[in-house]
Amino acid sequence: MSMKEYIDEAESVLLHTYNRYQIVFDKGDGVYLYDLEGKKYLDFCAGIAVFALGYQNKAYNDALKGQIDKIIHTSNYYYNVPAIEAAKGLLEASKMDRVFFTNSGAEAVEGAIKAARKYAYLKDGCKDHEIIAMEHSFHGRTFGALSVTGNPAYREAFEPMIGNVKFATMNDLESVKANITDKTCAIIFETVQGEGGIYPATKEFMEGVKALCEEKDILLILDEIQCGMGRTGYMYAWQKYGIKPDIMTSAKGLTCGVPGGAFFLGKKVAENSLVAGDHGTTYGGNPLAGIATKTVLDEYKRLNILDNVNEVGQYLFDRLEELATSCDKIIAHRGVGLMQGLEFNVPVKDIINSCIENGLILINAGTNIIRFVPPLVITKEDVDNMMNILTKCIN
Ligand SMILES: *Cc1c(COP(=O)(O)O)cnc(C)c1O
Repeated sequence: MSMKEYIDEAESVLLHTYNRYQIVFDKGDGVYLYDLEGKKYLDFCAGIAVFALGYQNKAYNDALKGQIDKIIHTSNYYYNVPAIEAAKGLLEASKMDRVFFTNSGAEAVEGAIKAARKYAYLKDGCKDHEIIAMEHSFHGRTFGALSVTGNPAYREAFEPMIGNVKFATMNDLESVKANITDKTCAIIFETVQGEGGIYPATKEFMEGVKALCEEKDILLILDEIQCGMGRTGYMYAWQKYGIKPDIMTSAKGLTCGVPGGAFFLGKKVAENSLVAGDHGTTYGGNPLAGIATKTVLDEYKRLNILDNVNEVGQYLFDRLEELATSCDKIIAHRGVGLMQGLEFNVPVKDIINSCIENGLILINAGTNIIRFVPPLVITKEDVDNMMNILTKCIN
C-alpha cells in the first residue's frame, strides 16, 4: 500500500484528534527518520522531545530486547530489578527522595497533584485546597493535568475541571502572590514552558516562588516532563537555579520511546502524603520501562550527553540568534540547551511544511513559534544541515 493509501485508511479508523502531517514513518537511524517511501528526514522533533539518544542506540535496543526475552510485565504487587535500578539512578541524579513510576507525563502530573493535596489534607484536614498554575502552561490532557493547563481552549468543553485552580502569569511574582490564600497547597509550573512557546522561568521568579513556598509551606511542583532529562544541559532544568522542588514530574526523555513517566517527592512530602492504598497503576514501572530508563541513564553517562547538549545547544543558540537578527519575520528567539524556539510574526505552518518537503522535521509551539527539540546526540554538523534547510524555507 502507498503512503497515501495508509493515510486514508488511518483517517477512516483513528479518531481524528490530531491534524497530522501527511507522513507515515517507517524507521529511524541516528538523527534521521525514513518514511514508507524511503524519503530521509533530519529529525529536530525527536518524537516531541522524547528520543534523546537518537534512533538505533545499540545499548538501548539491546537492553529492551534482552528484557523482552526475560519478562515485560509483572504488576506492582511485586518488585522488579530494572525499576529498582532506574529509581536509584534517578534519585542519584535528582537528589529527590522517592519516585513513583507512571506511564505518561499526564499521569505523573495527576500523581503530583494527589501528593500535594494529600500533604495539605494531612496538615489541616480541609478538603478545599487551592493550586496555583500558570497561563500558557501545558501539563497534559487528563482531568487533573488539564485542570492546571493554562490554555482555556483545551479546557472549555470539558468543564467542570477539578476545581480550586487559579492561574498566575509565568515570571510575574506579583501575580503569584496575588493568588495566594491560606488554602493554597501547591504552585505548579514548567521550569521551561514547552508547548506554551519555550519560556524559561527567570531566576528571580524561581527564587521568589521558592521563598514564598518555604515561608507558607506551599509545595513547589516543577513539571520537567519536556525540559528535564538533560534537555537544558542540566539533568533537571531546575538544577541551574540552585533551588529544589518539593515535587517533580518527568516523562518524555525518561524512557526515550517506551511509554513511561514518573513523579518524584522530596523528603518532606514523601514522609507526609501518599501511603499504601492511596495511589497505583497497573503498568507503571514495569520491567520494560524500567530497563529503558536505566539504560538511558547509563548511556547519558557513557556518551557525556550533558556536555554535548551544552556544546551543541550553544552552537544552535548562536546560529538561531544569527538568523533571528537577519530575518525580519522573526521577532524573538528563546530557550536553553536543546530546547529553543523562534517566534515569527506570521504563522509557522507553511515554513514547517516546506521544511518537511525538504527533508527536515520541525514542530511548532503555538501558531507562531517553531520549536527545536532534537535528539540530544545531535552534532554541530546536524545543526548546520538544519539551518541550511530552514533558512532556504523561510525565504
Ligand atoms: C508532554 C507534556 C506533558 C504530558 O505528557 P504526556 O506523556 O503526553 O501525557 C505534561 N507536561 C509537559 C511539560 C509536557 O511537555
